[in-house]
Amino acid sequence: MSRNILKLSETIKVFDAIIIGAGAAGLFCAGQLRQKGKKTLVLEASDKIGTKILISGGGRCNFTNLEVSYKNFHGKNPQFARSALLQFTNADFIEMVKRANIPYVEKTLGQLFVDRQGGANNILQMLTEACKGIKIKTGVEITSIEKNEDFKITTPEGEYLARNVIIATGGKSIPKIGATGFAYDIAKQFGISVNEPSAALVPLVFSGQKYDWVKSLSGVSCEAIVSSKSASFKEAILFTHKGMSGPAILQISSYINQGEEIYIDFTAGHDFEKKILSTKQKHPNQSFVNTLSLLLPSRLAKELVGDLGERKLHSLKNHEITDFITRLKSFPLTPAGNEGYYKAEVTKGGIDTDELNQKTMESKKVPGLYFIGECIDITGWLGGYNFQWAWSSAWACANGIN
Ligand SMILES: Cc1cc2nc3c(=O)[nH]c(=O)nc-3n(C[C@H](O)[C@H](O)[C@H](O)COP(=O)(O)OP(=O)(O)OC[C@H]3O[C@@H](n4cnc5c(N)ncnc54)[C@H](O)[C@@H]3O)c2cc1C
Repeated sequence: MSRNILKLSETIKVFDAIIIGAGAAGLFCAGQLRQKGKKTLVLEASDKIGTKILISGGGRCNFTNLEVSYKNFHGKNPQFARSALLQFTNADFIEMVKRANIPYVEKTLGQLFVDRQGGANNILQMLTEACKGIKIKTGVEITSIEKNEDFKITTPEGEYLARNVIIATGGKSIPKIGATGFAYDIAKQFGISVNEPSAALVPLVFSGQKYDWVKSLSGVSCEAIVSSKSASFKEAILFTHKGMSGPAILQISSYINQGEEIYIDFTAGHDFEKKILSTKQKHPNQSFVNTLSLLLPSRLAKELVGDLGERKLHSLKNHEITDFITRLKSFPLTPAGNEGYYKAEVTKGGIDTDELNQKTMESKKVPGLYFIGECIDITGWLGGYNFQWAWSSAWACANGIN
């Protein structure tokens, strides 16, 4: 009897906002709505909240970057991100981290990490602290969302009414920790366009005999510039037993489609030619492979030198060296594909930004329905940009709800 009364009271309560998904964007949005005094409920399908925050950055959460602009994002229209990124900036989030006394460091390329192993939990604690007083229900399966005057959300344990519904269920990456395509399904239900989602920031795989040498180098890493038709990144690459990974490869994976070539500059912009020519003068009897092994990991050098390998430097004409370096600077590779959602850090594609108000993330077609975070067709580079997008889009949404 008392359970029925509880169900009834939950049914008739109309929330100002119901947030679906207690990840980075959902929790941050809930905290902001609490500050505005909005009656808010968070519904999460998994038993735990903020799981991706906890595993992010190797457990240290790369929570933002010192340099953030819409140019660090891709999607159909990256400029869409401008307004939210300006409304709530990286500096704003850093300020919150400082106020919470969370120690942090810049690792590389402006990437800010919590300064201790397991420290990602500090970020989650900061977010949950801000949600104090807001009910976060976990293990909730949403069976339907309908809109009449208010939104009606149906779950096996009861119905909830809300003036605004915020979809913060992220993308499809890492299904084993609860990632779903829920946001895309809801968008489609309401006639909102979704740009084809696919795995991004993901290791690349190579197949066929032609690429056996790539897998034979498993464990080798070096700095390189990796390019596609539209982007270029200078960071580390790592050969794996399936193909290639490392930051530069993850970055470029977001910019290629199946079957497209990538180009590796193994010199990483250094003047290898000058160094080899100078070695040729000083040590003419040194073999070419030994010379290249001083500039690249020796296993990689052995694979790359080809016929020139055992030749002494004095026997090589300068143009042979120049031609070799030219090839080394734009080495074409065609991945067979990538390791998919099981290994992808993010999902690219998603809710078409033409469908949303860029100041508030509200659907133009369905007033009161909002999408925030990774489910939108705005995908950040590796380096703290995806969390910054989660914070900024969540803030813009909370700010837009009156
Ligand atoms: C291994 C890994 C490491 C990463 N490291 C970094 C990093 O260091 N820096 C960075 O910027 N980005 C990083 N990312 C990316 C970053 O975690 C995401 O971009 C960010 O979490 C997106 O926030 P979100 O709130 O949109 O989605 P999420 O954080 O994924 O939250 C979505 C929430 O919705 C819940 N949910 C899903 N479906 C339903 C449903 N049907 N009903 C109710 N709830 C549902 C999920 O369980 C989850 O709690 C990493 C990602 C991975 C996988």
